[in-house]
Amino acid sequence: MSVKREEAHARVSAAIRDMADSIVEISRDIHQHPELSLREERASSLLSGFLRGHGFQVDQGVAGLPTAFQGAVGKGGPVIAYLLEYDALPAIGHACGHNLIAAGGLAAGVALASLGEHLPGTVRVVGTPGEEKDGGKIVLLDAGVFDDVDAALMFHPGASTVMWRHATAVVELTVQFHGVAAHAAGSPQQGRNALAAVIQFFVAVDGLRQHIAETSRMHGIITHGGAAANVIPDFTEAEMMVRAVTGEETEALLARVRACAEAAALATGCTVSFSEGPLYRERKNNHTMATRVGEYLMGLGRQPEEPVLKGGTGSSDIGNVSLRIPAIHPYLGIAPKGTPGHSTQMRDHAGSDAAQAAMLDMAEALARTGVDLLFDSEFLRDVQAEFQRSGPDFPM
Ligand SMILES: [Zn+2]
Ligand SMILES: [Zn+2]
Repeated sequence: MSVKREEAHARVSAAIRDMADSIVEISRDIHQHPELSLREERASSLLSGFLRGHGFQVDQGVAGLPTAFQGAVGKGGPVIAYLLEYDALPAIGHACGHNLIAAGGLAAGVALASLGEHLPGTVRVVGTPGEEKDGGKIVLLDAGVFDDVDAALMFHPGASTVMWRHATAVVELTVQFHGVAAHAAGSPQQGRNALAAVIQFFVAVDGLRQHIAETSRMHGIITHGGAAANVIPDFTEAEMMVRAVTGEETEALLARVRACAEAAALATGCTVSFSEGPLYRERKNNHTMATRVGEYLMGLGRQPEEPVLKGGTGSSDIGNVSLRIPAIHPYLGIAPKGTPGHSTQMRDHAGSDAAQAAMLDMAEALARTGVDLLFDSEFLRDVQAEFQRSGPDFPM
C-alpha cells in the first residue's frame, strides 16, 4: 500500500526523534575532532559508516577526493541530495559549525530513507569535503556527481535564522615572492628582500581598497615571512582571498590584485609567481524550496527572519551547484545575534546543547521538504519552474 505525503511526514519526524541521540553524538564527535579541508578522514568515515548502518549503498572517495562520499537509497527519479560539510578551520576548529551541517544533513537523509520501499524516487547523501578552502563541491560537480540530481538541500548554522541570502564569489590567490638571500647586516646590498615585496603587496592592496565596490572583499595572510631576522628573506608567501558579487567581477578584481603583486616584485627586485584556487560562484537560492523549509521550522517554533540582501558576505561552493540545479542553503540561528562567524564564540556555540536541538529541528524541516519533493510532483515542478526563470540573489 502506498504511503501518502502526510504519513510520510509523520514517519520522517519519528525517525529523527528515534535517531536523535546518535546524531547528536556524531555532531559532537566531529566538533571535538576538527579536521582541515580535504583531510576529514575521521568525519568522513563516521558519516559514511552511519549511512551503511541504515541501508545506504555508499561509495567512499568520490571524484578523486578520498574524504568525499555518496550514499543512496531508493530507485529512479526524482533524485534529491542532502549535502554534508565537515571541514574545520585552522587554529580555531569548528568555528563555521560544519559539524552541525554534517549531522543535520545525515539525519534528514536517513529519515527519508527510512521510508524504504515507499520512497517514490531516490534520496542521496553526499559528503562534500573542503568547503573552506578547496571547493570540494566544485570538484564533485565537474565530475558529474550532480548530473542526475533534481534538488540539493543543505543548511548552515549562524547568528540568525534566515532562509536565503546572497553570497559573493571568491578566488583564493597564493602569491610567492622569490628574492636573494644575504647577511642582513654584513651584506644587505647583495640581497633582494622577498619580505619587503610581500609587505609592498599588502600595502598596494590596501591602496586599491578605496576603489572597489563596497560589496567586494580582499583579505589575506602572510603564510611565510622569512626564516631568520639576520638573513634577507629569499622566499615569502601570502594567501589573498578576492571576492565580488559575481564570478566575472571576481576575475576582474583578481587581475588588479595580481598587478599589485607584480608591482611589489618589480619595486623590490624580486620575482613573483601565482597559483589560484577554484572559483566559488555567486549563489542562486531556490526560494520555493527555502520557503517550505521555513514553514516547517515555524511549525517547530523557530521563526525565520526576513532576508536582508545587503553588503558583502562570505562565499561557498554551494554557489556553483546552485547555478546548475535547484539548491538551498538556509541559515539556522545557533548563536546570539551579532556573533561573528569564524570566531571562537561561534565554535563554542556549535558545540552547545541548544545548537544540537536547533540542528535536529532543521533536519526535520529538511526531511519534510524532501518528502514534498518526492511525493508532491506539483511542488517539484514549482521548484524547477523557479530555477528556470530566476537568477542568483544579489545585494541591493
Ligand atoms: Zn566557513
Ligand atoms: Zn561554513
